[in-house]
Amino acid sequence: MAKVVLENVSKIYSGGVVAVRDANLEIEDQEFVVLVGPSGCGKSTTLRMIAGLEEISEGNVYIDGKRVNDVPPKNRDIAMVFQNYALYPHMTVYNNMAFGLKLRRYPKAEIDKRVKEAAEILGITELVNRKPKALSGGQRQRVAVGRAIVRKPKAFLFDEPLSNLDAKMRVQMRTEISKLHTRLSSTMIYVTHDQVEAMTMGDRIVVMKDGIIQQVATPLDLYHHPVNKFVAGFIGSPPMNFFDGRIEQGSGGLYFNEGSFKVRLAEEHQAVMGSYVGRQVTFGIRPEDVADALFVTNPHPEEQIQARLEVVEPMGAEVYLYLNTGRHGFIARVEGRETAQVNQMLAVVFDMKKSHFFDVETSKAIV
Ligand code: ADP
Repeated sequence: MAKVVLENVSKIYSGGVVAVRDANLEIEDQEFVVLVGPSGCGKSTTLRMIAGLEEISEGNVYIDGKRVNDVPPKNRDIAMVFQNYALYPHMTVYNNMAFGLKLRRYPKAEIDKRVKEAAEILGITELVNRKPKALSGGQRQRVAVGRAIVRKPKAFLFDEPLSNLDAKMRVQMRTEISKLHTRLSSTMIYVTHDQVEAMTMGDRIVVMKDGIIQQVATPLDLYHHPVNKFVAGFIGSPPMNFFDGRIEQGSGGLYFNEGSFKVRLAEEHQAVMGSYVGRQVTFGIRPEDVADALFVTNPHPEEQIQARLEVVEPMGAEVYLYLNTGRHGFIARVEGRETAQVNQMLAVVFDMKKSHFFDVETSKAIV
């Protein structure tokens, strides 16, 4: 198993497209790292450079301490699982899984042992004599994973492996891949555009945008301490609410004034925000940190605002309220006992201790 290191890695495609810019990343042995970001942000290119399927324009990639820039893919001892499964249609499941080992001239008994073991792990033992066309999407993806497992590689690379599956199967395979990681204790690098997949599967998450790594952190750290507005808005569903406005000095300390409402900053944010008095900032608050004042005991009047309720979305255990201040729309995620009616003004409370502030010019998090 292996540690994977990227050192100042860039990829410039012919034509001058900078797909990845100066990436630095250390993936520990046995770690599950997810690369996430919107389409075109350079995730696949990063993965393909690790796999050796794409030339590295600048910088170095190390696997297990060895620089692999010039090592061909087949000698890197890693296995990749693709979105489209890439199975051989004319071969049985068994032969699809055995093929790579046959090419490497493994003894027949060893191949048989490994294929049977992988099939057992993935719960596809009954399917080994079928051809891919006789399998469901989820079963095909299992075969593709099985083909990777039998090689016992140093690291597994996954490129959007669940994108072709329906929602239910995606959730199921997500858990299975996580279990597989626990069982095999191997290094796994997983690319997805789906932040829920990233949050639920990764030991650590790498958030990318426009070819640049924005933040590398554990799921909860990313969620609670995003380094900039992009990460704050990308991680979390429904996404964080943002309001543009100004920091003002008032009788009770510092306030955020949006134009149609004004709230007092939490005690712990007062000092840090001092240098922003009189300046524009972006205020961010997650939907679960906005409450209907009716259900809050002793709501602080200076954390409360009035907003028009435009849409109510009952989700079962909870309800999403789509509100509008007159200047900004925002979402509150509240408990299922919510009774508010649309087209009414609603008093809502912001949990200001949980608020975020971003610099308007740099988009960087201030608090
Ligand atoms: P992601 O996986 O995050 O969707 P990619 O790594 O596939 O992003 O692509 C990153 C950027 O590089 C995109 O702007 C994409 O258009 C560009 N790109 C990808 N492959 C090539 C290529 N072979 N030639 C030129 N540009 C490419």
